[in-house]
Amino acid sequence: MSPTANNRTLNAQLRALANTALCLGAVFMVLLCTFVFLVTRIKAKDNDSKSEETTTVTTSATVMDTTPSTEATTTTTEAPTETTAAPTAHASYPEGTKLIALTFDDGPCENTSKVLDVLEKNGVVATFFVLGGNINETYAKDLQRMLDLNCEIGNHTYGHTVLSKVDADQAYNELQKCDDALMKYIGQKATVIRPPQGAGLVNTGLFKYSLDNHEYVINWNDASTPADWQKPALGDAHYTAQYVVDNCTMSDCVLLHECHNSTTESLQEMIDGLKAKGYTFVTVSELLEARTANLTIDHAGSLGWDTSTLAEAYPGGPIYGIRYAYSCGELMFENGPKS
Ligand SMILES: [Zn+2]
Repeated sequence: MSPTANNRTLNAQLRALANTALCLGAVFMVLLCTFVFLVTRIKAKDNDSKSEETTTVTTSATVMDTTPSTEATTTTTEAPTETTAAPTAHASYPEGTKLIALTFDDGPCENTSKVLDVLEKNGVVATFFVLGGNINETYAKDLQRMLDLNCEIGNHTYGHTVLSKVDADQAYNELQKCDDALMKYIGQKATVIRPPQGAGLVNTGLFKYSLDNHEYVINWNDASTPADWQKPALGDAHYTAQYVVDNCTMSDCVLLHECHNSTTESLQEMIDGLKAKGYTFVTVSELLEARTANLTIDHAGSLGWDTSTLAEAYPGGPIYGIRYAYSCGELMFENGPKS
């Protein structure tokens, strides 16, 4: 064979080799694409089932927390008069999340709609502890708007009765009348209770009402509460806003009264300051869900409560259905953030 013929044969062999390599490359690419596609599908399916699991866990945890145990029910002599609203699934917050529950007592009043405007504009929530005696046709719209904005409505009695000054039946009745007014105007009861002045925490009527109606009792954190009903906060919106921003803690519950103009006027500055410090705004129930435990009689005793009264109302164990987060602060945050 001549060198030229040899070259031609070599060229032909190289071309054949190149064609084969090209074909193999194409086949490899097709296989690779198929593999990537399949892996992506499998991962997507896995994620779907994981998020379903999370939802199930959250829902069942909420149901457990809001349903009194059988033992608790046996201590109750009167059945609840109305069906409690279905429990809402609360978000869980990673450890280290700063939570704040702004609460407004003694409304509704003419400033309530202004507060709702500010909350809506800023996309944040709050809790309103209302007085049953203040509710009428006009304010019913504000109450409905609270619910529409995912805010929470709390029971602050019908006529601002100080529960430490009345007997158990009167306390029960005052709380019942507030819920009756809510039922009449918006078709649902409160979900939490704050007794006026934070007083009467050991009134058995309060315990019993809380238990019968699954309404947890919560006061507030004194340290971050600007005392907006008196000077220097009263009449000074800037002071009110800054007091909260400067003194709030990791998981806070602030007492405010929107019926004071300076408090309503302080709200935008307060929200701006809290957002700048990285706070997440939650309702009281969300705060309780994330950051408290049920109170036991022993623990109540260690805090100086009259445990003989408590033991009479709830013999032998945890005060079922009641979570206390009150002005001493420590109780509310005793367990730290729930992981
Ligand atoms: Zn009040």
